Amino acid sequence: MNVPKIVEIKDIIKETPTVKTFIFDWEVTEETPGQFMMVWNFHDEKPMSLSLIDPVKGEIGFTIRKVGKFTEAIHELGVGAQLGLRGPYGRGFEIAGSHVLAVGGGVGMAPLAAFAEEASRKGVDVDLISAAATQNELLFMDRLNRTSTNLRACTDDGTYGFCGFGTDLAQEVLESNSYDMIVTCGPEIMMKKIADLAEEYEIPAQFSLERYMKCGVGICGQCCVDDVGWRICKEGPVFWSDEVKLITEFGKYRRDAAGRKEPL
Ligand SMILES: Cc1cc2nc3c(=O)[nH]c(=O)nc-3n(C[C@H](O)[C@H](O)[C@H](O)COP(=O)(O)OP(=O)(O)OC[C@H]3O[C@@H](n4cnc5c(N)ncnc54)[C@H](O)[C@@H]3O)c2cc1C
Repeated sequence: MNVPKIVEIKDIIKETPTVKTFIFDWEVTEETPGQFMMVWNFHDEKPMSLSLIDPVKGEIGFTIRKVGKFTEAIHELGVGAQLGLRGPYGRGFEIAGSHVLAVGGGVGMAPLAAFAEEASRKGVDVDLISAAATQNELLFMDRLNRTSTNLRACTDDGTYGFCGFGTDLAQEVLESNSYDMIVTCGPEIMMKKIADLAEEYEIPAQFSLERYMKCGVGICGQCCVDDVGWRICKEGPVFWSDEVKLITEFGKYRRDAAGRKEPL
């Protein structure tokens, strides 16, 4: 649906000091983990991944980190406040195999939480690595403990779980387990390292990419990536390893709102 649907915030979960999840009543039909929606606060509109897709309760949710003007304004809203939602858009994660490793960094855990729940419903075992800078920034620990066969947390500063980056823990886990697939979302530097590990261990992987988006529906060309010219909003945001290899800017740079290159 390309016209925003005006909805009321049904519930708000304060996940961490900088992250909140906003829940809405929504008739779930084709929504897939890894897809995003354009969230409109009547001043501006920004892409957000679906972090909750509950077809039984008829709910969807977005998990939003406060980083700038738009997200600060969203964080100010209370239950009952209205927002416009457009979507779902893009290509989400494919659920394949019977044993999957999911690696999320920071708010990149948002689509992976929805993925883990959907994969569990389909009988797939998901081993999850949730990485954050520090303990109080770890997302969804209680929620994902109910879903995942094996949830491991890691923090850069060692305040909880494994001390180090998610990629270090992923390497350790890959040494002692076999997987049919890896899925990942988080800082692109982290995902580039996961791409290298997936190649080394010969495991197909899916990556959820972020680029500056305006229309969200493939018209404006803002989120095109170099060489292949794919639109992240349309051909992505989720890409397989063999596709990501063709995106020459992956792990190196992205473009700002004016199309200027900015290093990652
Ligand atoms: C497909 C997709 C899914 C996303 N999912 C989530 C999510 O689940 N949770 C979450 O917290 N954030 C998510 N983001 C990022 C989110 O859209 C930006 O953090 C948000 O737009 C920042 O707006 P701001 O005004 O608060 O901050 P600003 O100060 O405007 O920007 C802060 C940072 O956000 C990036 N950003 C700003 N505007 C956009 C835009 N229109 N499109 C893409 N990036 C932008 C900027 O490049 C900058 O790095 C997603 C982005 C994409 C492309």
